Amino acid sequence: MNAPNASGWKPGTPEAAQGVSGVETVTGNRGLMLEEPLIFEIGGADTCGVDLPTPPPLQGRGPGGGGGADIPHPNPSPEGEGLLGRLGGLLRTDPIGLPGLSEPETVRHYTRLSRQNYAIDCGIFPLGSCTMKHNPRLNEKVARLPGFADLHPLQPEATVQGALAVIDQLAHWLITLTGMDAVAMSPKAGAHGELCGILCIRAALEARGDMREVVLVPESAHGTNPATAAFAGYRVENIPATPEGRVDLAALTARLGPDVAAVMITNPNTCGLFEREMKAISDAVHAAGALVYCDGANFNAIVGRVRPGDLGIDAMHINLHKTFSTPHGGGGPGSGPVVLSEALAPFAPLPFVRKIGDAFELIEEGDGSEAAPDSFGRMTAFHGQMGMFTRALAYILSHGADGLRQVSGDAVLNANYMLRSLEDVLDAPFAASGPCMHEALFSDRHFAEGISTLDVAKALIDEGFHPMTMYFPLVVHGAMLVEPTECESKASLDQFIAALRSIAERARSGDQSLHQAPQLAPRRRLDETLAARKPVLAYEDPSSRT
Ligand SMILES: *Cc1c(COP(=O)(O)O)cnc(C)c1O
Repeated sequence: MNAPNASGWKPGTPEAAQGVSGVETVTGNRGLMLEEPLIFEIGGADTCGVDLPTPPPLQGRGPGGGGGADIPHPNPSPEGEGLLGRLGGLLRTDPIGLPGLSEPETVRHYTRLSRQNYAIDCGIFPLGSCTMKHNPRLNEKVARLPGFADLHPLQPEATVQGALAVIDQLAHWLITLTGMDAVAMSPKAGAHGELCGILCIRAALEARGDMREVVLVPESAHGTNPATAAFAGYRVENIPATPEGRVDLAALTARLGPDVAAVMITNPNTCGLFEREMKAISDAVHAAGALVYCDGANFNAIVGRVRPGDLGIDAMHINLHKTFSTPHGGGGPGSGPVVLSEALAPFAPLPFVRKIGDAFELIEEGDGSEAAPDSFGRMTAFHGQMGMFTRALAYILSHGADGLRQVSGDAVLNANYMLRSLEDVLDAPFAASGPCMHEALFSDRHFAEGISTLDVAKALIDEGFHPMTMYFPLVVHGAMLVEPTECESKASLDQFIAALRSIAERARSGDQSLHQAPQLAPRRRLDETLAARKPVLAYEDPSSRT
């Protein structure tokens, strides 16, 4: 990398310019795709975008802040010495080393970076399992109302009655849609909800003095399921899948016994199939004294049609950021309420909202002894993701019962359209098992020697699409899992299908140029393993690198 010149501009990197056949630009920019150095490479430690009053000097030093310069204060005050005492010797002695930029430079930097990213607002986001769907703008508008957006979790209850009513109403609809008895609203993601559900199960078993050690998880489970069970102190054992991609009921029943605390089953499962024997599974598990956890991440496919409570399920998390269209964000803020059966409801975490007459109150630790004597404790600092609750409730109310039923119908229709439009060029291992649910699953079986699922995923980037989920579920070799969701029109599905068809043909014929993909992206193929194993989390000046 070249050092920035005085204006912060520096010549583009050869790596960035090499993408398009032979075209090199002076700037490194390609058309309207602007090349962007790191902020440390364009910012100068001597620049500051804001005017701050100079703080009182500490032991004769000036501020060690963004500018890094030691500026003596014109009128040293005794305050400075007092502050120094309160810092207890933790005063920074070196400049902080943050890059300084003017406001327009800062805004442009992050806007340019955002344009190199892909988002649900740019196009179809076909990740399987994750349900990346449109975030309706009505939800955003509601969440930004000052009465919701400006709340603080420590406000007195009397001043947040409307917010508590929203939590209570959303809880009501989640219970109604799932046919369950109660819901814990505070978990902050699907995985967090799983932990909440398993802790409820553990508390229920402990309450009856039944210390069981094993949680059974199907082979096709999302990685968070075994991780949750292990985190809660259980030994995890796998249950095999049948050749058509569903839980093997006979194998499950054979394994049940007095040491099994629970089974965790995803329904619809991660092969995109409905577990038709769910009721029989629940009955067998209950007969053996264990409890049923359902991973409800795929509720999108059955909402308005199937109530998990009718299938004998004891606990199920709902990812509001999947089924109910709240934003995923960069790993958050999610929300994973957990619906609970009558058997588990008493063990739900604190705090929770309770309606007394016309008023809402938050049952907290401390006032919990009579209100919730069996609660296993708390999951989070406060009562959950308020911003997600408002969005999810807006989504539910604006769709209504008929609209939610249509959501699952259209999600399943779109996935089947995807499956049937591609099964002649891509191997679809469970296509013979009948229609899929919300997602279509393909394998790498028909690819020529040496061509991988990774090559196909990277080639999709050149076509302007975010890749599908790859290498998951693990029960399928070189898996590609595509979930179009109900939000996509036939035109957008057809465009994606055309792109994937052409890449699949290239993969079948052994087109070696696939190894070069992506050729048109701002960056080429990165060493993702190295990046994950040895992440560079702090900026190093390239000139100081050895
Ligand atoms: C997304 C997902 C999870 C985890 O949910 P997070 O909200 O990402 O923590 C668990 N199981 C399945 C099947 C999922 O798709």
